[in-house]
Amino acid sequence: MLLDRLNRPIEDLRISVTDRCNFRCTYCMPHEKFGHKYQFTPKENLLSFEEIEKITNILVKHGVRKIRITGGEPLLRNNIDALISKISRLKNINDISLTTNGFLLPVMAKKLRDSGLHRLTISLDSLDDEVLKSMTGRNITAQSILSGISAAEQAGFTQIKINTVIQRNVNDHSIIDIAKHFKNRGHIVRFIEYMDVGNLNDWGKSKVFTADEIFNTINAVMPLKKLTPNYKSEVALRYQYTDQSAEIGIIASVTKPFCGNCSRLRLSPEGKLFTCLFASSGTDIRSILRDTSGKGNLESAIKNMWSNRSDRYSEIRNKTLNKSPRKKIEMFQIGG
Ligand code: SAM
Ligand code: SF4
Ligand code: SF4
Repeated sequence: MLLDRLNRPIEDLRISVTDRCNFRCTYCMPHEKFGHKYQFTPKENLLSFEEIEKITNILVKHGVRKIRITGGEPLLRNNIDALISKISRLKNINDISLTTNGFLLPVMAKKLRDSGLHRLTISLDSLDDEVLKSMTGRNITAQSILSGISAAEQAGFTQIKINTVIQRNVNDHSIIDIAKHFKNRGHIVRFIEYMDVGNLNDWGKSKVFTADEIFNTINAVMPLKKLTPNYKSEVALRYQYTDQSAEIGIIASVTKPFCGNCSRLRLSPEGKLFTCLFASSGTDIRSILRDTSGKGNLESAIKNMWSNRSDRYSEIRNKTLNKSPRKKIEMFQIGG
């Protein structure tokens, strides 16, 4: 089994299929920095579906069992369902999921289901239109995302996960609304601490509404009890309402880091592999894939990369915060 320097296996591959997005979330692609002139990855530099399949096949050989398709907004990548069909046919893949902002689901949900996608995660930060508009940086109503969720239900997706990033004094007052809305609908809301991914979102510790605060806010109104993790590398702390109506998750990357069990590898749209969400650089495998000299060896590059991995950024975040800021990959380039 391929293990990194901290004895962690490689199990989970997140494939970002585009760096483009139809939203401009303030914490991910603030519109002041991603205006009309921003240069996204040109089409010829994007990995083709065949190239993604080839890389995935090698990674499956070394332990990957779960795939998440992400972005940018993955539903903006042309024929994304064709990639999902290819991946769903690979042997030993137990789980294929996709994270989306939900806006295009009314037209895409059925295609995604038919292509073999197992699970969907849909991001929704507030049910208050004014808050949602300011957080998404676009004229997005809560109803447009709820319509996407309904389309996903109609297409046959169950136990949909709802991702809600909480920022202090921005949408912390939306926690109860969201929790109540989804409580009896069979979906799992995952409240996420605002993370210092990348260098563009003006993150500060004071903006983090912590996991404990999220728990206390919900527990005061709708009592919760803890659940055990489903598997070792699960990122969300699991809770269930004491009336057993639903489960929720809290992702506490800032205040309760989970690097010890991190088995996730991320592939960027232009073919770089990143061993951590907060990495400064990635391993360029597109150049090996497209090298016609026959000198490059994709499999040994991948093995080398993982066996040299020692990332544990969230565990050492506090020690690095006061030092000069280092360059980090942006969230829209590698997905969540
Ligand atoms: N566009 C899709 C979406 O929004 O669901 C997929 C990509 S998005 C980068 C994946 C997830 O990362 C979303 O749920 C988003 O809310 C979350 N996210 C983005 N920036 C974040 C940050 N700074 N802290 C915490 N979560 C973040
Ligand atoms: Fe787009 Fe998702 Fe980033 Fe929002 S979080 S800007 S929807 S990629
Ligand atoms: Fe994994 Fe890096 Fe996040 Fe730690 S900080 S859990 S190593 S992605």
